Amino acid sequence: MRIGRTIPPASTPLSLQDILNGCRGLARGEREVERFRREIQEYFAVRHCFLVSSGKAALAVILQALQARRPGRREVLIPAFGCYSIPSAVRRAGLSLRLCDVDPRTLDYDFDELRRCLDAAAGRGGRRRAGGAAGPALLAAVSVHLFGKPADTVRLRELIADPEVAVVEDAAQAMGAESRGRRLGLRGDVGFFSLGRGKAWTTGEGGVIVTDRDDIADAIRRRVAALPGYGPMALLGLVLRTAALAGLQRPSFFWIPRLIPFLRVGDTIYDPGFPMRRLSGFQAGLARRWPQRLGAFRSRRRRCIARWEKLPLAAGVSRYPAGAEPVDYLRYPLRVRPPALWEKILERSLAGGVGVMLTYPDSIDRIPDLRDALDGREYPAARRLAREILTLPVHPLLTDKDCEKISRLIASLGATSPESRDATSVSDGLTGLGRGVS
Ligand SMILES: *Cc1c(COP(=O)(O)O)cnc(C)c1O
Repeated sequence: MRIGRTIPPASTPLSLQDILNGCRGLARGEREVERFRREIQEYFAVRHCFLVSSGKAALAVILQALQARRPGRREVLIPAFGCYSIPSAVRRAGLSLRLCDVDPRTLDYDFDELRRCLDAAAGRGGRRRAGGAAGPALLAAVSVHLFGKPADTVRLRELIADPEVAVVEDAAQAMGAESRGRRLGLRGDVGFFSLGRGKAWTTGEGGVIVTDRDDIADAIRRRVAALPGYGPMALLGLVLRTAALAGLQRPSFFWIPRLIPFLRVGDTIYDPGFPMRRLSGFQAGLARRWPQRLGAFRSRRRRCIARWEKLPLAAGVSRYPAGAEPVDYLRYPLRVRPPALWEKILERSLAGGVGVMLTYPDSIDRIPDLRDALDGREYPAARRLAREILTLPVHPLLTDKDCEKISRLIASLGATSPESRDATSVSDGLTGLGRGVS
């Protein structure tokens, strides 16, 4: 295990001033929460906003509210590769999962596969639903902006012909990011953001729900009102965890929490037993001046992203091609095709503490605790991506020296020119698609 400066793969600064603002917010209580709620409504120009204890809790509340409106429907469609919090929230809401494979070139749904998934969910295409239940089962489909890269939420909406199926936009990693002149999070019927550590900005933990749909908002309001607040012990824990986070996530200290196994820093955990609460005054207080902080973090990340866009890459390593507009990545994804190279980079990064990291350890269908909840189908592209994606850090705690260290690691692999290595120009995927992953 490394001792010494260690760069986290994702991070968001929290200052002593932020913590003090949190304590002031704690004293002001609900008034502070209401202030924060209004600020979000204004920033996003959205009709309704709800504040809860995490992104997971936001998704679970949304799904429970949707289900209360459509009691006959119990299935939620999600991409087979991504954050384990998504299936955790679906199961927490008492619903069943339907997975769809992803397109490794976009990190979004594989839209050809999606057609088949939707047909199957609607009971078309031969196979009837198990149990012979009447009526369609699909309640919602989740569109995920993975690493901040905009997913095609509009296309998902179009492919789902049934207007009763809600499109939920998971913008947990994309708060404040825009695509085609519009902020992410507002394209679906309802969207949510995470204020957890390592997201666009943080209140230690927290979740934000936004929607313009009055009918959905009514159902969510009832659910949120029924949630408990943070009790005194939970609040104490939150304040201590947040203060520890503010210090320990700095690169000069990050090796310390990494040494303490029970903190599980950086681990991706599937756990439907997470707490669900209303946001506290402490978190709302921590949020003071958030649009300014978010703006500053975003421009710092953009500078770093611009640097990674020009980084010469070795053969077998490709980036996601830059489109017409810059992407507000929270972590900068690289696709590394030969598994041996993927392992080599990861090993060197861990030894050097430079924050180049794998993302999710496996596809959702291969989470052991979910085996019984799924139908045993395989999702080959999702499974492969877990062993192909590495991310470069772009967070505001990176120094120029850190960036140089990362550049040197990538360059040491034997660089070719940046132009020849965009994901589109590598005569792509299909030839490599048959390759198994050990
Ligand atoms: C972090 C994250 C979540 C969950 O947010 P928490 O606040 O950590 O519960 C959900 N979806 C995605 C894509 C995320 O990155």
